[in-house]
Amino acid sequence: MRGPPLGVAALLLAAAASAQGTKGISHGVRPARYVIRNATIVEGNGTPAAGPYDIVIEGNTIADVVALDPVALKAGRARRPAADAEIDATGKYVLPGLINLHGHVQDERGGIPQPVEYELKLWLASGITTVRDVGSNTRATLQLRDLSASGRVVAPRLFVYGLFGGGGDAVETRGIRTPEDARARVRELKTLGVDGIKILGIDRDLMQAMEDEAHKVGLRIAHHAGVEETNAWDDIKFGTTSIEHWYGVPDAALADGVQHFPSEYNYNNEVDRFRWAGRLWREADPERLGTVLQAMVDARVAWDPTLVIYEASRDLQRAQQQPWFRDYLHPTLEEYFKPNPANHGSYFIGWSSTDEVSWKENYRIWMAALRDFERRGGLIGAGEDAGFIYELYGFALIRELELQQEAGFPPLRVLQHATFNNARILGMEDKLGRVRPGHLADLIVVNGNPLEDLKVLYATGTETIRNGQAVHTGGVEWTIKDGIPYHGPTLLREVKELVAAARAHH
Ligand SMILES: [Zn+2]
Repeated sequence: MRGPPLGVAALLLAAAASAQGTKGISHGVRPARYVIRNATIVEGNGTPAAGPYDIVIEGNTIADVVALDPVALKAGRARRPAADAEIDATGKYVLPGLINLHGHVQDERGGIPQPVEYELKLWLASGITTVRDVGSNTRATLQLRDLSASGRVVAPRLFVYGLFGGGGDAVETRGIRTPEDARARVRELKTLGVDGIKILGIDRDLMQAMEDEAHKVGLRIAHHAGVEETNAWDDIKFGTTSIEHWYGVPDAALADGVQHFPSEYNYNNEVDRFRWAGRLWREADPERLGTVLQAMVDARVAWDPTLVIYEASRDLQRAQQQPWFRDYLHPTLEEYFKPNPANHGSYFIGWSSTDEVSWKENYRIWMAALRDFERRGGLIGAGEDAGFIYELYGFALIRELELQQEAGFPPLRVLQHATFNNARILGMEDKLGRVRPGHLADLIVVNGNPLEDLKVLYATGTETIRNGQAVHTGGVEWTIKDGIPYHGPTLLREVKELVAAARAHH
């Protein structure tokens, strides 16, 4: 298809965007004071949508949330806060900025460089204003965190959970072999300035020492368990903040304490690992599982399930053919996703219908466990883990929300997982995760009602029928982070151009 050159098209789009009900608002520039007018608010704490409201933003803070009297409004007598700049949110929904509880800032895939700008903009375009980074180049991501905090880079707010055992880390780590080594590593990370620690595959004595030290220095802990010595019982005992994914939970409920692997099973063979992981939940004893979940609730161990990152295991074709790949899949990531024995995820060569059916059952039990956990009082968050296994930054978090709805949570609760609950898991619930005066101005203006259809949150929008006509709708129109308004379609267009340029050079 022929069209105007990119630059011209971009100008046209930008002009169209600024014409749509805004005044004095520029993409990426924070006005001293502005008002989001006539918004329907989903606050993030699980309470129902309500409106209309005018939301006053001053600096990086929500200064006021003013209820509008619909009768006075209609008669033109409503008293409304004044401001030189405004965003008209009539017919739109305003939510707290989404928090991605499981992200990785990635500047390469499989050793090939990938611009960080790519994922930072995809995150923002998807309404994500905060990312908990759970493993990256710690020093570089700490610098990025500080640049983001001072508004010098287009990026979500970052919380950096340094990898306990190195792994892609610039920090020189000697082998952590003794409890004293573990404590020293915790102090080293604390000195670096991390917000928390991510552990991954760890023996019990080291886990006990590292968690004890982390509590002393005030660092939170995210645990990605493997099939290993420790499981959820250790998280319960030692005080882990959140269990990532799901490993360690069914493991803690196995009748014999060990899964019934075939004798030729080799954990380091990814095909074995993922195939048999798909048969793990069914081996959990239901009664024991209830005991484990209750103990997690009692010990305040939260759960960040990342349902999305295993979706390829239950439906490979869906994962490989996501519609946003066409315009937004960076060639570096595309290469990385190709089944290749050198990369994580190569097990998809020969992935069978039987494997998919096993994983579908795995999901059913896992999803039921999540609901049971929350009903008992457990704290569930939402994260994506994109950059692996066909999952694209930002889009993956919205898919995670859809899967949480599939698990049986109503959309109001799902959105709470991604906002208020995530803020609680970060220990930031007094500043983030709600639309409330005094909180940081991290908000999204959504073109549509996410309670009706979570798909309206996809940056690329969705299709719907209005007055008998198929129309394109949805998308996050404005992502406001620290009071800085970012225009979603502009971010998305920039990503598209970045990808097109990278493909041309590929
Ligand atoms: Zn991860």
